[in-house]
Amino acid sequence: MIQVNLAKGKEKPVKHHHSWVFSGAIAKVIGLPANGDLVSVNDFNGQFLAYGYYNQASKITVRLLAWSETEIIDEQWWFQKIAKSIERRKEGIDLNATDSYRLIFSEADELPGLIVDQYQDYLVCQFLTLGIDQRKQIIIDALVKILNPKGIFERSDASARILEGLSVSSGLLYGSIPSVPILIKENNIHFLVDVNEGQKSGYFLDQRENRAYLANFAKGKTVLDCFSYSGGFSLYAKNAGAKEVTTVDSSAAAIASVQENYQANQIPFAEENLIVADVFQYLREANSTNKHWDIIILDPPKLAPSRKSLPRAERAYKDLNMQALKLMKEGDLLATFSCSASVTLEHFKQILAWAAVDAGKELQFIHEFGQPIDHPVRSAFPESYYLKGLLCRVISA
Ligand code: SAH
Repeated sequence: MIQVNLAKGKEKPVKHHHSWVFSGAIAKVIGLPANGDLVSVNDFNGQFLAYGYYNQASKITVRLLAWSETEIIDEQWWFQKIAKSIERRKEGIDLNATDSYRLIFSEADELPGLIVDQYQDYLVCQFLTLGIDQRKQIIIDALVKILNPKGIFERSDASARILEGLSVSSGLLYGSIPSVPILIKENNIHFLVDVNEGQKSGYFLDQRENRAYLANFAKGKTVLDCFSYSGGFSLYAKNAGAKEVTTVDSSAAAIASVQENYQANQIPFAEENLIVADVFQYLREANSTNKHWDIIILDPPKLAPSRKSLPRAERAYKDLNMQALKLMKEGDLLATFSCSASVTLEHFKQILAWAAVDAGKELQFIHEFGQPIDHPVRSAFPESYYLKGLLCRVISA
């Protein structure tokens, strides 16, 4: 096997089971690996540390798979790893109430570059690295053998693949996928998921537990769901007895799907409360017309895609939350999220504190939101922690 020897002093993250080896940490490569090949990673003295797959085209040159020298990474190994990850999902989700969740979460499940989501009887895969892309068939065979799905569809995220020197890829990989959206069930609420055209893999599975938690506060309240996508938070709130829910997203297709989801659940709704708009602008206008809701939800897309964009994102998060807080009265609740991995929970609290001061409000953090059980955070790989949120109560305004 090709050997990748690290520069002196660069072995610590590998020893601690982090999943990545950056190009700058490598001192020499003994042999000529092809991109995607299995390699062993050694310390400066040539002492074994881990196995991984190689890609010279990527800044993350090796993604690690196993840290024991006796492991043999063959087809059987991939099968076992995939089977174990799926097995872990049998715990902690009420499968009578929920038929859609993440089966494999990349580095967090020790399968870097591979994401697999189950939507009812169908699977949606993301092959995000070259090493995983090359092993597509092994992965599909394993998924078919373990789950016998009706269809497997690929929706690989474009930006991640470009960093790996791969082109965008999507399409049917196995079986068939219905031409109409798939009707999934999440905590007994139905959602139509378009795996072909929808954002990401068609639905945001990662907010399941947070939607359910927030629904506990919704009875009899007026709610503003900002950055709604297909209306996850809106439907849970309405279902829990909210008096009125206003839903805002800049995508007309997303807002159309909110309407279809209300209909799929036979939940009454008012069309004038489904709004296609830029949230930043909508909140400013709401401030100038003195609108009011008891609960406001802010679930923006990743505003800080990298550490470099952090200062700009910090301002955007602060502005967004300040605009929402300005609308709020004593006793109101703000459920605010960040899915940027580079924004820590502590930093997010700080941003909210600044926003509260500028909006002239006093806040309590009454709950911390995070990732659901099917989007675990692996202790050795802190980057798998990305979704965080705060439930804030306005105590004086
Ligand atoms: N809350 C959703 C997921 C939100 S994903 C759920 O529970 O499923 C982020 C959403 O923000 C996307 O639907 C995207 O269309 C929308 N979006 C992005 N920028 C926006 C903007 N400036 N104003 C309004 N919506 C925006």
